Amino acid sequence: MATVTSQPGRTPLIAGNWKMNLDHLQAIAFVQKLAWSLKDAGHDFTSVEVSVFPPFTDLRSVQTLISADKLPLAFGAQDVSAHDSGAYTGEISGAFLNALECSYVIIGHSERRTLHGETDEQVADKVAAALRHNLIPIICVGETAEDLEQHGPSAVPVAQLRGALAHVTTAADIVVAYEPVWAIGSGQAATPEQAEQVAAQLRAVLVELLGQDVADKTRILYGGSVKAANIAGFMREPNVDGALVGGASLDLAEFASIVRYQKHVGL
Ligand code: PEP
Repeated sequence: MATVTSQPGRTPLIAGNWKMNLDHLQAIAFVQKLAWSLKDAGHDFTSVEVSVFPPFTDLRSVQTLISADKLPLAFGAQDVSAHDSGAYTGEISGAFLNALECSYVIIGHSERRTLHGETDEQVADKVAAALRHNLIPIICVGETAEDLEQHGPSAVPVAQLRGALAHVTTAADIVVAYEPVWAIGSGQAATPEQAEQVAAQLRAVLVELLGQDVADKTRILYGGSVKAANIAGFMREPNVDGALVGGASLDLAEFASIVRYQKHVGL
């Protein structure tokens, strides 16, 4: 029987990125049901952390519910402004997210990079803003199919991680999500071996830039068409410490099953 190889000191994280789905009322119902179904199944939240990333307009409702019912779920936002306050119409400050008790914020998701033209420099500024406001940035990196063909799997994610960490000089609490763009929403996930190969390269960058201690503690997630049927394979890899889940995070039973990967046959 294969063993689960999550490294000591790195609690696996299963993070659900809802993207622009579920309004605040739907969010309340979903989070309540998710917490109950995981509790009913006897999920040990200290062995696998669970976090949801609703749209901005849901965050206050999710915070109120989690806090009032003492639910063992973390939550965060899908983006943050690089600025702290001021004339930036439509943007959301890290200070506001911190005031809402967000633990995490996703930064540099491929949809932000592609659809909104976000650059490595902007990602770096947002990472710095998140850390200024005691939010843990989940830094997304990943290559397109074209990048893969031209440069292989690691070059672009490694360059994006270097760019994202441009202003990070001290020991920082960060999470890295390796999300090959060709695997996002395509139903065609990377293989566990492919994910491990890139995750190992990303960890080597962390060692070089932030030191061995930070690199050892930093969780590296895989994202891209993760489902209950394939999560266990990724979690067997020594440098993969969890998953950033898009589509499947909106299906309660599927997401709960992903969270409970340790109970799947073969683990
Ligand atoms: C994502 O958008 O971060 C993602 C991983 O999506 P999906 O799981 O749907 O591929």
